[in-house]
Amino acid sequence: MTNRAGALESLMFVGTSDLAGLVRGKAFPLADLEERVMFGVGLTGSNIMLSAFGPIYVSPFGTYGDLKLVPDLSTRTAIPATETADIELVLGDIRTLENAAWSCCPRSFLRRGLDALEAEHGLRLLAAFEQEFVYTGVPDAPGTSYSFDRFRSAGSFPGRVFGVLRDADIVPDSFLPEYAARQFEITVKPRQGLRAADDAVLVREIVRACAALADARAAFSPVLEPAGVGNGTHIHFSLQDRSDRGVMYDAQSPFGISPRAQPFVAGVLEHLPALTALTAPSVASFFRLRPNKWAPVWANLGERDRGAAVRVCPLFGGDAATAARDFNVEFRVADATASPYMALGALVHAGLDGLRRNLALPRHPQGPGADYAAAGVRMLPRSLAQALDMLAATPAARGWLGDELLAAYLMFKRAEIDAVAALTDDETCRRYAEVY
Ligand code: GLU
Ligand code: MG
Repeated sequence: MTNRAGALESLMFVGTSDLAGLVRGKAFPLADLEERVMFGVGLTGSNIMLSAFGPIYVSPFGTYGDLKLVPDLSTRTAIPATETADIELVLGDIRTLENAAWSCCPRSFLRRGLDALEAEHGLRLLAAFEQEFVYTGVPDAPGTSYSFDRFRSAGSFPGRVFGVLRDADIVPDSFLPEYAARQFEITVKPRQGLRAADDAVLVREIVRACAALADARAAFSPVLEPAGVGNGTHIHFSLQDRSDRGVMYDAQSPFGISPRAQPFVAGVLEHLPALTALTAPSVASFFRLRPNKWAPVWANLGERDRGAAVRVCPLFGGDAATAARDFNVEFRVADATASPYMALGALVHAGLDGLRRNLALPRHPQGPGADYAAAGVRMLPRSLAQALDMLAATPAARGWLGDELLAAYLMFKRAEIDAVAALTDDETCRRYAEVY
């Protein structure tokens, strides 16, 4: 017998951002990496039914079945765990034992949409996530929205986050003290396809880890209190051809959106009320999607309008090549209770439906005082229950999600509504803020 503590062993955690938008999985000895990349770690179907609050409330899979979560080494990232040590995190795909994509794997849901977009239309998606969160490591000082004072009071936190991002090959864009109390926003440079969603998952984990090192928390929850201004996850997107050239911009077209891209944006708008069930998918999400919070309320297309659901972003100058590269549209109806795979996947599948049907871009009213109701613009759903009913009533959604995932998702999210049904609005927001 010896009292010596064992030497510290290196582990790797393989996870995926699941239906609750949380990264869950298992760790294994780093020495086994090669084997795990081939065979994965074991999971069961009900793993995807773990609720935001922990318990499995319902599951179509019960205790039955075996699956594997297979690491994708392109996502391997060192997450700071202590001042001197990192934990390796890698994201993965849930596959069947026969090595097929599992029907309910969120990352595969996105991949299916991206593959179809390229196969059918020769298009690739470029996207960047802009994520807002409340950082408890700074004082709740009045008058500090956008202020240098708040930014400085965060100390080394922003710099540490950027450093970890760069080591992970994620390129930071900006870090700002946002409008709400103790709120910040982090944006990274756009990436193509799956990688954009992988980056969004990793950014959240890196921000959380760096906050924890400062004995603080980063809360990405959609709203911390019912009347408060929310934390949005805005998704900037554009389309590229197979040579990675931007094909979204055309100066002569309405809103500058090229004829090739218009049906994609039209598809997103057409399906928007129902998409909300996948992109802003919690009870708390609907306290954010209310008037006067700079968050969307209507399923509208707005040019340079931060109240719009889908916002056409400005160009800041440059030549035609710069415009083709930089022009993008921002989807503002998402938050961090959505897995980035589900949110981006929803957007891609809806856009693809618009391309297949060659939908026309609607001409929504613009500017202050615009009368959306009179123009026939639809409102976003007012609650998760309403959003889920709209998703269930959308025939195209069966094609996007497949019968098994659609049924499991509706069951999962309806159980989440039941789980907070007895709480007051304040308690509901607090409950989500504990988790996200
Ligand atoms: N906080 C707002 C939201 O919940 C967005 C503010 C902005 O960045 O325009 O979406
Ligand atoms: Mg913002």
